[in-house]
Amino acid sequence: MLKLLIGFLLFSAVHAAVVQEGVFIKDTKFSKIANSMPELVVDHVSSRGFELYGPKGTKAWLDQIGVNYSSLDKTSIKSLAQTSYPSHEEISSFLKTLASKYPKIMKLESIGKSVEGRELWMVKISDNVELDEVEPEFKYISSMHGDEITGRELTQFWIKDLLEGYGKDARITELVDNTEIFVMPSMNPDGSKRKRRGNAKWKDLNRDFPNWTKNEANSWEKRAPETQAVMKFQAKRQFSLSANFHGGAVVVNYPWDSSYDRHPLDELVKDLSLKYAALNPEMRSSTEFTDGVTNGADWYKVYGGMQDWSYFWHNDLQVTIELSDRKWPKYKDIPGFYKDNKESLFVFAKSIHQGAGFKLKASNSDGSVRVTNLDTNSSLGSFGFSRGEFYKVLEPGNYRFEIAVGNKTKSFETSVSKDNVLTNGNFTYL
Ligand SMILES: [Zn+2]
Repeated sequence: MLKLLIGFLLFSAVHAAVVQEGVFIKDTKFSKIANSMPELVVDHVSSRGFELYGPKGTKAWLDQIGVNYSSLDKTSIKSLAQTSYPSHEEISSFLKTLASKYPKIMKLESIGKSVEGRELWMVKISDNVELDEVEPEFKYISSMHGDEITGRELTQFWIKDLLEGYGKDARITELVDNTEIFVMPSMNPDGSKRKRRGNAKWKDLNRDFPNWTKNEANSWEKRAPETQAVMKFQAKRQFSLSANFHGGAVVVNYPWDSSYDRHPLDELVKDLSLKYAALNPEMRSSTEFTDGVTNGADWYKVYGGMQDWSYFWHNDLQVTIELSDRKWPKYKDIPGFYKDNKESLFVFAKSIHQGAGFKLKASNSDGSVRVTNLDTNSSLGSFGFSRGEFYKVLEPGNYRFEIAVGNKTKSFETSVSKDNVLTNGNFTYL
């Protein structure tokens, strides 16, 4: 078999996470071998089997080496009328209508265009939405895999709920007043248009981000336009907590994805994941995952995913939330999925307030900050910041922040309590 594996490596393009062919394989033992091959993408490993994606020729190669496979369950996708889900154009006008109805708390921005020119919409929700205030920055991104559609709809429901609840619902008002919330319902509109995983060029966007385990630079060159748009946007902001939505399983997956090492905030990110899952009936009663959560690499390794990239380079703690076993459920089931996730979506976003940060008087300064946990006397690492602002989600405890801007240094100590109240008292002004 080894000879055939090597042969396959030679004839296909290197570094390209091209996902033109997809199959379902029952033999889970084969998932490890497949996952060690850079041109193949393994997804959703379960006791029943796993999905395998690769370039043209993948099926022929599987035939050659005698691995049995079946086709992916697309019957549910094909039998559905195109009209049951809103089109990209309908989503665009839905968001534009909301933005004009709620101009004080919602701003709609296109952060780039897909391969085929569709706008990549990013919604900002906050009080004084036109201003960049000193508030923790949170985000939700959905459907980077175009055929994993549930989150695209759920994030739109959530946007509408925040806007309609503002000024009426005390919890929502408090969250919107004290947080800069960003929501991107559709990162891969071309893929969703075709009901497929990859973008218009068959690129798997969740294998397209810089891979920290391979010492890749945090550079957007030569990446898909959808990946580039997210990378450029992230570099302009100071996100500290986020989630990205997928489908094909029901679980909260936390970093790292690409290393068996435990994340420096392992306890915290596991906590946040458990909190999300505990409020979702299907997750908390999962038979596949204990308490509805899993460490990423323990499930299966993902290289070049958005989740690892987000924390490694941007201090933005991110989890991957798989919302529905069916990637493309019947549209009439979407309100039910929203009902099951609504409280989790809110509570996870609110968790961003368990943390600490600072704002410098020189508001344009870029620098770096080292964060030390004083209770365990351990460093959480060094992080870059821009616009004189930095914020970090943290476990309850006592911390020291050592800031360097050019050759000037400053430091302060602060404490984080469990579920910090929703005020911005957790920022220190220096
Ligand atoms: Zn996915």
